[in-house]
Amino acid sequence: MRPVHNTSYRYPHEDLILTLTLMLVFGVIFFTATATVCGSVLFVGAMLIIAYFATSNQHQSLLKTAQKVTPQTHPQLYEMVEECRATLQAEPVQTFVANRNALNAYTFGLTSPKVVVIYSALGDVMDEDEAKFIIGHELGHVRLGHTWLNSLVGGMAGIPSPFMGAILMEAAFLWWNRACEYSADRAGLLACGDVNKAISALLKIGVGLQVSQGMDAQRALQKLRDEMNDTASNFGELFATHPMIAKRIDELKKWAASAEYGKLVRG
Ligand SMILES: [Zn+2]
Repeated sequence: MRPVHNTSYRYPHEDLILTLTLMLVFGVIFFTATATVCGSVLFVGAMLIIAYFATSNQHQSLLKTAQKVTPQTHPQLYEMVEECRATLQAEPVQTFVANRNALNAYTFGLTSPKVVVIYSALGDVMDEDEAKFIIGHELGHVRLGHTWLNSLVGGMAGIPSPFMGAILMEAAFLWWNRACEYSADRAGLLACGDVNKAISALLKIGVGLQVSQGMDAQRALQKLRDEMNDTASNFGELFATHPMIAKRIDELKKWAASAEYGKLVRG
């Protein structure tokens, strides 16, 4: 047969059908992408609402068991919180003392006033300056916006996603969490004004009640340093909300010796 030089034998509307097919493909991509974006927005919204109710629930159950700090119930503690608040220029907070044996304090709340919770055991082992470091640390979280962001971003980090995605989001959120802890430690130091007191407060939290029960500070610090050099602890830190205490002490010492700190202290 002789060569055919044109393509007039093409089936009718083949080009049109291709155009329609491509339009349909892009239409489907556009639709699913839009649905995913809208769905995600709705999902994040739902997480935020859940976070809000979880927070107010926490607040309600706390009110039942903890004591609210007022000038009448805890004059000294109330005064300390006000003093630290003035130093850090933090918004008014509600402070509660929870009757617990652990050495811990935390802050929560999406709306103002934020809540600062102090465990009663801290009162037994911390002196006034150490207590100011702890209070300043918590008020630092409030002042720097960590408290409400934590509820918000924490809710988002909890969004279910395919396996690796969930781990990545969680790890990234915790990375930010640990950065917040270093910032709050700096606020604590500004509130108490004495790096040695800040360190001894951190040591007491890190080693527990042993420090206040006679374990000397050098041995306590060595114990924490051993942990810092341990590979498993370093890996574990990736999934921890707080950096290792020895690292926090080192960071705080470095910052206390910096020109930046000196400038802030001198006003
Ligand atoms: Zn903290």
